[in-house]
This record gives sequence, structure tokens and C-alpha cells, in this order.
Amino acid sequence: MNKPAELKLDTVPVWINGKPVVPQGRMGEIYNPATGQVTKRVPYCNEEIVDAAVKAAAAAYPEWRDAPILRRARVMQKFLALMQANQKDIARLITEEHGKTLPDAMGSVQRGIEVIEFACGIPQLLKGEYSENVGTAVDTHTVRQPVGVCAGITPFNFPAMVPLWMFPMAIACGNTFILKPSEKVPSASIRMAGLFKEAGLPDGVFNVVHGDKAAVDALLHHPLVNAVSFVGSTPIAKYIYETCARNGKRVQALGGAKNHAVVLPDADMEFTADALIGAAYGSAGERCMAISAVVVVGGAADPLISLLRKKAEAIKIGPGDEEGVEMGPLVSAQHRDKVASFIEKGKAEGAKLVLDGSTTAMKEGYFLGTTLFDHVRPEMEIYKHEIFGPVLVVLRARTLDEAIAIVNANPYGNGTAIFTGSGGAARRFENEVQVGMVGINVPIPVPVAFYSFGGWKNSLFGDLHVHGMEGVKFYTRTKVITTRWPHQDTPAPGLNMPTLG
Ligand code: NAD
Repeated sequence: MNKPAELKLDTVPVWINGKPVVPQGRMGEIYNPATGQVTKRVPYCNEEIVDAAVKAAAAAYPEWRDAPILRRARVMQKFLALMQANQKDIARLITEEHGKTLPDAMGSVQRGIEVIEFACGIPQLLKGEYSENVGTAVDTHTVRQPVGVCAGITPFNFPAMVPLWMFPMAIACGNTFILKPSEKVPSASIRMAGLFKEAGLPDGVFNVVHGDKAAVDALLHHPLVNAVSFVGSTPIAKYIYETCARNGKRVQALGGAKNHAVVLPDADMEFTADALIGAAYGSAGERCMAISAVVVVGGAADPLISLLRKKAEAIKIGPGDEEGVEMGPLVSAQHRDKVASFIEKGKAEGAKLVLDGSTTAMKEGYFLGTTLFDHVRPEMEIYKHEIFGPVLVVLRARTLDEAIAIVNANPYGNGTAIFTGSGGAARRFENEVQVGMVGINVPIPVPVAFYSFGGWKNSLFGDLHVHGMEGVKFYTRTKVITTRWPHQDTPAPGLNMPTLG
């Protein structure tokens, strides 16, 4: 590892073995998206620094694995209390680096904190099974044991919540962890690492490294890393999944999305329009569960579009820390330009532009207004791609069958929602739609922490979703033990396949 340089206020450190360190080497810049100004620097870790973090996690593992489960739970409880006490500070860091509004950032930290609440129940969650007399005087039981050193690689759009989907569950299960947060928004992770130490977490159990592909690759190829959780875009998720599988690591890799809302003519249009506005334009559309496509059935289209237009136009745009602002900037100049280029594409390919957000000018920062397209068809680029910005596209369908077919033909399958007053239609939709998380009159059906979060198809590579019981399964291995005590005078096993009966 490079020699630690002097800790500078404007450089976000890495966190290795319970200490903040600023390594020498490549540095990246962090921007405030509301002003376009560089606010801090962040080290881009090389193989050597990642190796130091992994070795710290590996060294801390045996003692943490063997720590009484109640002790692990009590550290989680203290961490929970510290996170609650510091929720606003963390939310502020998120607004500064990501751009989303402060109330939205507060909500996202809250949803992450709820995973810590769930992880506090780890003594109950790790209980195994026991069967007496599976054969004559033979008993079988199962235990769930941690997998060892785990790594998490997370995206820019939820700087605290997505890491919190992973590391509290992994650590409560007895693993040690290395987090590589998005290099665009690294500060919240370091703040959480400090709070976790204050809660009594032993050094080395939780580590944070920063950087780009080089840091990620060092984790994916490190022989001491046993499991990798990833959340980000689909091409990188696929790469992470394939690389980990090749290297013999357990992996779950959550990818991108194109989430549809299906609106039936019997839906309450005012309620539906309000729900869709929040789901499409909240966090400037930079949510993996944002509704970015609406499939309107039959006569619902015209009234819905006129309501959406009116409500989208009224959204107050500005810096995320300003009172009353409802939508902040995009995360970076590059991303804003990419989203704006999709608006141009949509116009060129013949979709009807109802509202054009590309003309919203601000003196500084990476702002775009709200954009609404009507008469979008599945072959158009603005439908095929995850734009990840404040752009909502509307497709028209004649029947519920046609609407379900559109949703199911899409390669993504993260979230979806139906708006209707009909229980029968909702039940059919729930049953037939090929998507991992479904809302019935709920636009963003992000499961609470005691359920699990995950999509289908190109939105998730791997088997298990994050947090909830699937999180416990991902971060543990099951061991099945069969027991017989010879003094009980049972016949000795012969050479045949034991049947135990
Ligand atoms: P991204 O894929 O660009 O980056 C995610 C992480 O991967 C970051 O930590 C980044 O440093 C790293 N990374 C980037 N390029 C890499 C490469 N070539 N090799 C190895 N690692 C690399 O995603 P993003 O732009 O930060 O986040 C937005 C994306 O995340 C969207 O597609 C969104 O839908 C998705 N997302 C999905 C979920 C979900 O639950 N499915 C949740 C949040 C975000």
C-alpha cells in the first residue's frame, strides 16, 4: 500500500482497518451538481490499496465470525441509533454530491436505516432447522454460516441506501466487508464507516475503497473475496456476474431498468397522474425504480396526458437544498448531455413531444426540465434505452393483453405498476407480468427491508435478491449436520447406501 499522505479536508479518504487514509495516486473530482463546482477530491484506488482493504477484512473475519451473535446484534443496534441521529448530515452529503432534494435524500437514508433495523434481528434470522429421528436415533440440523470476505459495488443514485442494502446484512451474518461506492458520491459511505466504528464495530470488519474499474477489478479478481454484491447499470452488472462466476465467487448483480406503469380507463386519473409524476420525475428520474414508460389503455390516454402535462410543468426545479424545490439537477454534465441527446432522438424519430425539458436554462449546474413524450412506439430509441433522467414516455395500447405483452417484451424486469379500479385486472397483471417487483396502484413498489428487493431478466444477474431473508441467504452458507451417537445401540451402517429408516 502507498504511504498515507496527509489527510486533507477536501479529499475523501478510504477507510481501511478502522482508519481513514488518503492514499497517493490517481485522484478524481467530486462536483456539486447544483453549481457545477468541484467540491472535493477522491482517490482512485489501485490493486495495492484494494489488497490492503481485503487483507484487513480477511484478518478481522475469524474473530467477527465467532463473536456471539448477540454481540453482533448489539453493535447493529448502536449503529442504528447513530444512523438515526446523523440522518440529516448524511442526507446533506447526498444532496451536495448527487443533487437530489434534501427531503428525498432523507427518505432514501430512512429506507436504508430500515435494513439496519431488520439486521438487528439477526439472532432470530440465523436460526437453523432441526429434525429429530430422520432415521432410527439419527437427527439432522442445519446451521447458516457466513461466507467470509464480501464486497459491495454501488451506483451513484443512492449513495447511502444501496450500500445499506448490503453491508448491514453481510456484517450481521458474521462476514467482513469491503464497499466500493460510486466515485461520484463517496462521502456518505465514509461517514457511515465512522459511525459503525463508533458503534463498536471491530477494526477491519467494514472497509471502504474508492475508484473506478481498476478498484472494482481488483476486488473481482482477489482470491480472498468470496462474495460480491453489485448494483448499477446492466452492462456492468453482466460483466460483474460473469467475472465473479469465472473466478468462483458467489455473486448477485442488480442492473438497470425500464419500469412501466399500465393505466386502465377505470383508474382514478387524478390519483394516477399524481403518482406517476412523483415516480417519473422524483430524483430527476435517476431512480432504478422510476417509472419511465406509461402504457395507457384505450380512452385513458388523452385525459391522463393532459393531467401529466399540467403537473409536470408545475414542478419546481432548483438546487436540492433550497426550500420548496421538488426536483434537483442531474448528477453530472455528461449525464445531463446524454439525457438531452435522448430528447433530440425522440423528436427525430417521430414521437410527439408534449413537454420539452431540454430548454430549461439555469445559470449554473446540471439542470434539465421535465420532458413528456406521447405516441411512443416500442422500436423507438427513447423507449428501448434506460434514459435515467426526467423523461417520461407514453405508449398507447388497445387492451390490457396488449399492455401486458408490451411490458413482457421489454428486456428489463425491475419494477412495474398497474393503475386500475378492477381487482380482476390487477390480479391478472400481478400473475402474468414478468417483473420482479409489482405495484397495484403503487407507482414505486420498493419492498420494505423485511422483504427482498430485486428484479428479473436484465435487471438482475444471479439468483438472490438483496436484504430481507434473501439477503440472509446470500451472505450465509447452509451446513446440514446428521448426527448419530453409537452408544444408542443402533445397527452399524453396512456397505449399502444408508437409508436410515
Ligand atoms: P454504473 O454501472 O456506471 O456504476 C456502478 C458501479 O460500477 C460504480 O461503483 C462504478 O464505479 C462501477 N463501474 C462503472 N464502470 C465500471 C466498469 N467498466 N468496470 C467495473 N466497474 C465499473 O451505474 P451508475 O451510473 O453509477 O448508476 C446508475 C445505474 O444503476 C442505472 O442503470 C440504474 O438503473 C442502476 N441501478 C439499479 C438498481 C437496482 O436495484 N436494480 C438500483 C440503483 C441503480
